[in-house]
Amino acid sequence: MAEVWIDPARCQGHARCFMLAPETFEIDDDGYGHVIAGREGSYDEENVRKAIRNCPERAIKVIGAEPAS
Ligand code: SF4
Repeated sequence: MAEVWIDPARCQGHARCFMLAPETFEIDDDGYGHVIAGREGSYDEENVRKAIRNCPERAIKVIGAEPAS
């Protein structure tokens, strides 16, 4: 099954992922994005695609799936 994750080495904390897919992403106290625990393999595909397209740092990855177009 495909899983979504955020690369902490790339994330710069713009919060666009949270704005576009709040059911999948959360923002920590320092402003960095994370996948909500338990949502890695269960998410709204369209919203996650939007988040991937809008992340300025290209920090959001989906493993085990075709790259988002
Ligand atoms: S949009 Fe990208 S850089 Fe911004 S918080 Fe989300 S993952 Fe991090």
